[in-house]
Amino acid sequence: MGRGRVLDPISPDRAEAGGAGAGADRRGGVSAGRGFAFVGHTGEVYPSGFLPESPGNVRERSVVDVYRNADRFESLRDPDGFSGKCGACEFRHVCGGSRSRAHAVTGDPTGSDPLCPYVPDGYDGPLPERQRGDDGERSEPAD
Ligand code: SF4
Repeated sequence: MGRGRVLDPISPDRAEAGGAGAGADRRGGVSAGRGFAFVGHTGEVYPSGFLPESPGNVRERSVVDVYRNADRFESLRDPDGFSGKCGACEFRHVCGGSRSRAHAVTGDPTGSDPLCPYVPDGYDGPLPERQRGDDGERSEPAD
């Protein structure tokens, strides 16, 4: 109890400012590959424990090198390279959506977050569908 940190909400005005001013030194949203890496028991380095795509192993490469230089990690830190509605969203730099959910549902960790109901103004591209099993039941993707 009381161990977590309460994050201040980020207003749309600050989001549109692109991190200028008081929010310049902070990032919002989820953190897969952005200030975070997960090393599995076999040494594989992942952007998140929920994103099973490893660009390197600590037995062959330093975890710092993987985090800083692997293409996958770099792509997760570049919201301007996201596809789908997250890539078109004005909040992509402060939110960015869940890259793990995008991977779980679309196979592309830079795709749209399937659980976000927001659709950016003017976006008319495809919307992600939640995964459905053979029985037609919806299965929740990973966080
Ligand atoms: S579409 Fe939703 S999940 Fe994606 S960046 Fe915008 S607010 Fe975040």
